[in-house]
Amino acid sequence: MTDIISPSSPAANPAGRSFDELPLSPAMLTNLQQLGYLTMTPIQAASLPLALAGQDLIAQAKTGSGKTAAFALPLLTKLNPRRFAVQAMVLCPTRELAEQVTQEIRRLARFEDNIKIISLCGGTPMRPQINSLEHGAHIVVGTPGRIMDHLQRSSLKLEALDTLVLDEADRMLDMGFYDDIAYVAQQCPAQRQTLLFSATYPDGIAQLARRFLRNPQSVKLTEQHEDSTIRQRFYEVSHEGRLQAVGVLLKHYRPASTLAFCNTKQQCRDLLDVLQAQGFHALTLNGDLEQRDRDQVLIQFANRSCSVLVATDVAARGLDIAKLEAVINVDVTPDPEIHVHRIGRTGRAGEDGWALSLCSPAEMNRVDEIAKMTGSEPDWHELDALQSCDNSPLLPPMVTLQILGGRKEKIRPGDVLGALTGEAGFSREQVGKITVTEQSTYVAVARNIAREALRKLSAGKVKGKAVRVRSLED
Ligand code: ADP
Ligand code: MG
Repeated sequence: MTDIISPSSPAANPAGRSFDELPLSPAMLTNLQQLGYLTMTPIQAASLPLALAGQDLIAQAKTGSGKTAAFALPLLTKLNPRRFAVQAMVLCPTRELAEQVTQEIRRLARFEDNIKIISLCGGTPMRPQINSLEHGAHIVVGTPGRIMDHLQRSSLKLEALDTLVLDEADRMLDMGFYDDIAYVAQQCPAQRQTLLFSATYPDGIAQLARRFLRNPQSVKLTEQHEDSTIRQRFYEVSHEGRLQAVGVLLKHYRPASTLAFCNTKQQCRDLLDVLQAQGFHALTLNGDLEQRDRDQVLIQFANRSCSVLVATDVAARGLDIAKLEAVINVDVTPDPEIHVHRIGRTGRAGEDGWALSLCSPAEMNRVDEIAKMTGSEPDWHELDALQSCDNSPLLPPMVTLQILGGRKEKIRPGDVLGALTGEAGFSREQVGKITVTEQSTYVAVARNIAREALRKLSAGKVKGKAVRVRSLED
């Protein structure tokens, strides 16, 4: 999903160690090479030797560090494709993350053609999942609640399970899944390998590990951001002036994409109202959104047709989005580790990223904690000194068009790209990311051609058929 490579992203890690050092099959090594996995990321280099040797593991590393392959390679290596039973299970906090993991494991499993991987998440009907399970699956990826459902109905059997993975374990705990995870883990054979992955290490993780892992090894890679790529500034605000200050920062720094973190859902809603009233293209992510609306928000943010995504830590963590021009901490989080995690979302390839924090007098001690942990002096700036040299509205570079028709209609990204660059006559550069979901296809187009692209797509054909198209901006 990520299409921008940043210095801290896995692909840009030339000094890393090669996968050849690992006990992997030649077919797997060839596949990794074809996927462009040339060297291991640091978390992979630290955890793969242990996990491939069958050890239980607690692995901690930030989002985007390549954790999926760190557990997928060991479970794929152990898997026997001729045995039609669930041999590995991955628990994830949300459907989106489960789908991302499913896709990544599918890519990594390409060296064998007959490995069946299914995802079992809530919010989708049970029946098709039960049918897929009846047909036999080797790997299941899902959310704890839905997996528990299947276990209770006996549609999912775990006698043959060798590997249990808890992915984004900290976030599953945040979401209150402890009891569900415990139930699921108790249904697994005692003789198994358990791998726990997490971005942070709150108390609950130790408790999980004590109960469900056996002599686990810990692998921890704390984040080290290169100072040159993240420029961090603190601004003092009054509690009342906080939300207005976000707009002042956006007008001054003019980032194309910003993630604005709030500590509460209510504050997310309030900030969204303020920003939208000021004419910013802002959207929010929260647990109350329908799945389809969530998808639309993420798609628009990832394809650069939304300037600001307002979110809580829980809503934003684990999302596979490209590095951003700016992160704004609307308030300072009480946990310095979360602060470091938040600002790690900024800093793009070769460009500086801004990490801007608004701090009320009551939050000063939190900034002290951050300074203590990171060993750096906070860089304070005055909000009043900010001026916008450019008073034009801050508009996202792209606009998202939604085509009513998706995987169900067998539309592929190439069909849409073809329609726009063929008959419609646009250039490849004017077309951004194309995302195909079950029912819809979303294509980002350059803002200055959005109207015309909408008109031409509506008048023309995609995959030989007339389609209905709308802009998500009207
Ligand atoms: P995490 O789970 O730690 O957030 P992911 O497993 O989702 O990270 O990986 C982030 C991105 O990096 C994915 O797009 C993945 O395909 C890519 N990636 C992972 N490992 C490597 C590697 N060794 N070389 C190149 N790209 C990689
Ligand atoms: Mg992950």
